[in-house]
Amino acid sequence: MAKSKSNKPVSAAQEKHGAATSLKDQVGGLMKSTVALRRELHKWPEIGNTLPKTREQVLTALEGLPLEIKLHETTSGIAAMLTGDKPGPTVMLRGDMDALPMPEDTGLDFASKTDGYMHACGHDTHTSMLVSAAKLLSDRRGEIPGRVLFMFQPGEEGYHGAKFMLEEGLLDVAKNKDGSESPITAAYALHITSSMPAGTIGTRSGPIMASSDVLSIKITGKGGHASEPFRTLDPIPVACEIVQALQMMITRRIETFDPAVVTITKLVAGTTTNVIPESALIEGTIRAVSEKTRNKVHDSIRRVAEGIAAAYEMQATVEIRIGYPVTVNDAPSTDFALEVAESLLGEGKAVRMPSPIMGAEDFSYVLNKIPGAMVFLGGTPEGVNSMTAAPNHSNRVMFEESAMAHGVALYASLALRTLGVTLN
Ligand SMILES: [Zn+2]
Ligand SMILES: [Zn+2]
Repeated sequence: MAKSKSNKPVSAAQEKHGAATSLKDQVGGLMKSTVALRRELHKWPEIGNTLPKTREQVLTALEGLPLEIKLHETTSGIAAMLTGDKPGPTVMLRGDMDALPMPEDTGLDFASKTDGYMHACGHDTHTSMLVSAAKLLSDRRGEIPGRVLFMFQPGEEGYHGAKFMLEEGLLDVAKNKDGSESPITAAYALHITSSMPAGTIGTRSGPIMASSDVLSIKITGKGGHASEPFRTLDPIPVACEIVQALQMMITRRIETFDPAVVTITKLVAGTTTNVIPESALIEGTIRAVSEKTRNKVHDSIRRVAEGIAAAYEMQATVEIRIGYPVTVNDAPSTDFALEVAESLLGEGKAVRMPSPIMGAEDFSYVLNKIPGAMVFLGGTPEGVNSMTAAPNHSNRVMFEESAMAHGVALYASLALRTLGVTLN
């Protein structure tokens, strides 16, 4: 146990423990409950924006802490505010709580007990780590000049949970008791991944995750007999040409160093072998890492689809459903997170990622308003190769639970150090 340095005044937290407890010791003391809560959450996954059981589990775990808790009404979101003994700004930490609609095949003894639902993205670990960070920081309340806002959000997996929480006033924080403002100056989110070794973290400044939009194109022609295509307007070859042309559009109209992905995942037309159908449907996903390219891809898809259909006297109706924006890390916050992570995990363990990931994240809505960073936490199970480990969203994905200690320490350190607390 670390000793209290020199003759500095002893904080409430230190008094409680009789001596200054190091962050590492604090995290160590919380690991049993961190693992237990994670397993309990894992057993009872819920999806979307309504997570009654999960919310109850989180509230029970937070019971007794000096937090001001706001239960969101449009979703199962929880905003828990810790106010330090001294006035100062606010730091926000995000943990998402939702699972995925898929079966679990891990064989773990705490595997999902709800058929067809699984915590396959590790959000159970995020929730549990954030609860433990709340406990740790509550214990250090006496030395905190400012506040920490814990954002427990539902609906990350495509349900815009973060956006709903923002719309419900998540960022409207009250003033300090002395009347001074307490703006949110930084926001951080962690995401565990089974594809990075435990004991490492990775992030990058600028875009870290892509935007994600859903594409649907309906080509309308004129049905008829399969033996007489000239008397019909056959939408099938047109649909095929559009699929090919979209790939060409990506390589020839989009800047090489500001890339985008258009993947057609669904192509539906026809009913039998001797009928030319009236219409064909193309669906897929659009990813980009800048708003500029995102908009350009949307315009180009319309132009290409409508133009090709028109060339064959048909019509293409393009519908683009807007999903999450690009997740953009603020450069100073990213450098800071890497530095904090390195001080916790050791030299070479905080990795600057060379490129973004083309998945999407609704923490993007938060980072559009508050400077901060999304950080990946290595969680490959011990003895497994990171490159071949079942990835996040796999029915067999598993995470190294001891990596949660790094996550708890990182959450807490990011908050403390942002607020100017020096850690021993
Ligand atoms: Zn996910
Ligand atoms: Zn996720």
